[in-house]
Amino acid sequence: MSVDVQALAARLVTETKRRRTFAIISHPDAGKTTLTEKLLLYSGMIRTAGMVAGRKSDKAAASDWMGMEQERGISITSSAMQFVFKDVVINILDTPGHQDFSEDTYRTLTAADSVIMVIDAAKGVEPQTRKLFDACRLRKIPVFTLVNKMDQPCRDPIDLMAEVEDVLGIQASALDWPVGRGREFQGIVDRRSGEMHLYTRSAAGGSAKPEVTTELLADATPSDRLDEATLTSVRDELELLEAAGNPFSLDAFRAGAVTPVFFGSALTNFGIELLFDAFIELAPSPSARPAHISEDEEITIDPTDSMFSAYVFKIQANMDPRHRDCLAFLRINSGRFEKDMTIRHHRLNKKIRLSRPHTLMADDRGTVDEAYPGDILGVINPGLFAIGDTISSGGGGDFGFGQLPQFQPEHFARVRPDDTGKRKGMDKGVSQLATEGAIQVLREWNDKGAFPLLAAVGRLQFEVLQYRLEDEYGAKTSLEILPFACSAWLRGEVQSFRKPTSARLVRDQFERPMVLFTSRWEKSYAREQNPDHELVDYA
Ligand code: GDP
Repeated sequence: MSVDVQALAARLVTETKRRRTFAIISHPDAGKTTLTEKLLLYSGMIRTAGMVAGRKSDKAAASDWMGMEQERGISITSSAMQFVFKDVVINILDTPGHQDFSEDTYRTLTAADSVIMVIDAAKGVEPQTRKLFDACRLRKIPVFTLVNKMDQPCRDPIDLMAEVEDVLGIQASALDWPVGRGREFQGIVDRRSGEMHLYTRSAAGGSAKPEVTTELLADATPSDRLDEATLTSVRDELELLEAAGNPFSLDAFRAGAVTPVFFGSALTNFGIELLFDAFIELAPSPSARPAHISEDEEITIDPTDSMFSAYVFKIQANMDPRHRDCLAFLRINSGRFEKDMTIRHHRLNKKIRLSRPHTLMADDRGTVDEAYPGDILGVINPGLFAIGDTISSGGGGDFGFGQLPQFQPEHFARVRPDDTGKRKGMDKGVSQLATEGAIQVLREWNDKGAFPLLAAVGRLQFEVLQYRLEDEYGAKTSLEILPFACSAWLRGEVQSFRKPTSARLVRDQFERPMVLFTSRWEKSYAREQNPDHELVDYA
């Protein structure tokens, strides 16, 4: 190896090791935005916190590109942010915070190497936390848990840990423990070091780091600051945890079998730096990823492989109304990306020069000169890319990362143009939005000529679709919501499938048979009636 090649290889190893690519998942209002903002605050990206949350009031934040998001003050699309925190390169993948979410959310999780799950200490595990967690479990992504809002009246921490275990089916292991709760929430004991951190709110409130005093819990004595009862109860609880709690093991965490639990308040910053420090220490850097070389043959590609490779996990059109462009988001899985690089597009078997790639950070789309495994590239997409496409610098043969799971849609509709003259525009829009993966287009099993059915994981996707059909394709439409509540992909012989009368047999855009059901009960019934068939929730 020449000196240059050796130096580059060493650099690739170092850069891969210092990357953490993750997503924060939560039920709306648990504190995801506030936590993201604090990460920016602690990394020195913003001097005072309040900028990210600002989008909910008047100023639209950079991640809210679409007019509709700005109107509603919610973030519908998933974007990515990159910054450096304590010498580690952080890539945060933003998942929509709205109650209603989409396939994008699930696909974005495929690009994450770990996840921070935020739980509201008063509410515990909520429905959306559970759905998102299930998507993480599918890939065994390591999950950190933050029990947030400890500064407010909250449930018993031991109960909350038990709920995580029961509802999510993962072992919970507390790495730290709250000192007091609600109005008396004063600090955190770091169980690994035995240190107790007592915080004082700064005059600037949550927009600056709190003052903190640190001492060993074993040495602590009651003081003006900390009364005897609180000190005794924290010692008792920790003793109980030592005896009856789950031990933490890095291997079990990395395998997705145990979640380390942290307590804190993102609003006042209590306990937040401890979480971030543990995150840097424990979260995995990009590791080898499986890739298919044929229907049933798989290889793994190491991030430090000298071949550059990446895959498209999301496509988003028209984020910038001035440019009307379309961005493909790629996650780098191996090698080093350089600006103006010529890559091979595996599906099209075509060489392409990647011009104008962007990393997306806040409101300026900085152009990148180089990027490493774990990094997210936004590439101007002149219709070349589809969800799941793989690109590489070549030499690695034919392989594809593009096995992104598709989750069963739970919402179904027919859309019609108000003005029949706009049918063409609407069809074009629908097919573009299906390519982006914004919705799924289904067809009746036995009637190929029939008007297509649209299906989505979240109801909001239809509204986004209608908005974009009108805004971008000039087609005002009406929506007829269909009475199906869930679906499943059908595996087995279609002819012999005993379909409940009100269920409907359709084909998805990849010609796979799918069944739509009017209720979960009907779906269970169909499973019972068809022991020789499989009805699966994701494909
Ligand atoms: P998201 O929907 O998950 O992004 O939630 P936000 O970060 O927007 O938080 C929802 C609300 O909870 C906002 O009013 C926050 O100020 C508030 N909040 C977030 N974290 C805390 C916390 O630790 N304590 C308290 N008391 N409020 C919080």
